[in-house]
Amino acid sequence: MATKRTPSFNSHNPATGEIAGTYPIMDAKQVNEVVNHARSAAIKWQQLGFSGRKKVLLAWSALIINRVDQIAALVSLETGKPVGDAKLEVSIAVGHIGWAARHAEEIMRTSYRAPGLLMANMSATVQRSPVGTVGVIGPWNYPIFTPVGSICYALAAGNTVVFKPSEYTPGVGMWLEETFSEVAPFADIFTTITGLGATGGALCTSGIDKLSFTGSTRTAKLVAAACATTMTPVVLECGGKDPVIVASDANLERAVDATMWSAMANAGQSCIGAERVYVDEKVADKFTELAVALAQNIHAGAPGDGNYGPATMPSQIKVIQSHIKSAIKDGGVFAYGGTNSVKAPFVQPVILLDVPEDSAAMREETFGPTIIINKVKNMQEAIELSNASSYGLGANVWSKRQGKRIAAQLACGMVAINSTFSFAAIASVPFGGVKDSGYGRVHGPEGLLEYTYARTVVRTRFNLPLHLLSFKRKVKEEALVVTLTRWLKGRFG
Ligand code: NDP
Repeated sequence: MATKRTPSFNSHNPATGEIAGTYPIMDAKQVNEVVNHARSAAIKWQQLGFSGRKKVLLAWSALIINRVDQIAALVSLETGKPVGDAKLEVSIAVGHIGWAARHAEEIMRTSYRAPGLLMANMSATVQRSPVGTVGVIGPWNYPIFTPVGSICYALAAGNTVVFKPSEYTPGVGMWLEETFSEVAPFADIFTTITGLGATGGALCTSGIDKLSFTGSTRTAKLVAAACATTMTPVVLECGGKDPVIVASDANLERAVDATMWSAMANAGQSCIGAERVYVDEKVADKFTELAVALAQNIHAGAPGDGNYGPATMPSQIKVIQSHIKSAIKDGGVFAYGGTNSVKAPFVQPVILLDVPEDSAAMREETFGPTIIINKVKNMQEAIELSNASSYGLGANVWSKRQGKRIAAQLACGMVAINSTFSFAAIASVPFGGVKDSGYGRVHGPEGLLEYTYARTVVRTRFNLPLHLLSFKRKVKEEALVVTLTRWLKGRFG
């Protein structure tokens, strides 16, 4: 009798195209089974308490960093990024696990609120409970750092987690599950499911209690729509078109060094990577000169060769190519590189100047090692152009004296002053965006609270000789409330 074969898919080494691994494509029935198991495990995981969960999570973080060579090699194999970059990514992810484990109890502690004069006889408290089972859908560009930024916070809060990694990095996703199971006190606390987009779609409608997604805005909208059918709340961390603002008083060497790294490292495949620079015209030529000099010394290549690797997702090459072409067609000029810088699967550094704001290259996420440098007359113009984007993820500001003033006017979720990417490595601050860059937050207390819900509990401490919330209420009691309200001008609290 013929047996039905489980459908499967391959992951590839993007530098060579060779098959890196084969994984099952899980269907909706299988996804539901995993979610049901995770749901059953949630009660025991919660009962373990903060200290029990902290022990498990710290053991996991220790195991990951002790095996950094193994996981960095796997990340490098599936994404094409240099092993050193993968190690940095792993280290930052481990920092998040430790922070979430150590701070969950304090963040979720019951808070006591003022009951106000009218309700002075009550105590008012807000408790925090884990939502139950959290679904995480991850991307391929930072296959450890990004999903772990949701997974460890959800786990620390007392939820079980079902994780669907990108089809480009399933091996990394499986490694996370396997290492967690080595330290887990019982099964089904953290499970990885593999498959293509439809498997992620099945996770959205599987009855999970919250979904945390990282990826494109286009898919985020599909995910939000699918989750809406089951009233499943979502956190959406989507792409960006991050601006870099360079003032005339900026340290130009440092600004160029950080901006070029932000734009080109990881082959430009960073949601918070620099994509457009607005530089004060007084220092623009110097900035460009330094950027070109730096670009001359970096190149794309396979791990061990290049400063950064290939495009992880082959179809991205077309997007990069089309943005370079439209930048030139719309009036921009090359300062470094050209159309022949794109030789799949690699893209050598490209620097473009004076690209009109309405060009697709300035509006859409390129996700490649390209950077556009445009001159501005002053910082007000830089702020306005930065904000005139459908995205609002991160931004960088380079200035000795005006950093905070400029940062406060930017319509985005995160700003780094005289630095780049740093907010992603500070576990205590939230990460996320506005507009097409998504909503909700990962990391920090805000990120942990995303995987909890608030339960308000009020309690009568003593009885008042008033019957406000009763059919026994008297007319003179109603008058007293109105008089009090007038006297206190509504200040009951
Ligand atoms: P997607 O947004 O399509 O994929 C992100 C994740 O969503 C993957 O795990 C993917 O699974 C999953 N997914 C795909 N379709 C569905 C669906 N219908 N329901 C649920 N989950 C789904 O991004 P791509 O990988 O295609 O990249 C496209 C663009 O997105 C990039 O060019 C880049 O601009 C942007 N991007 C932004 C990232 C960021 O950090 N903000 C990260 C990655 C990409 P599968 O891989 O199996 O299809």
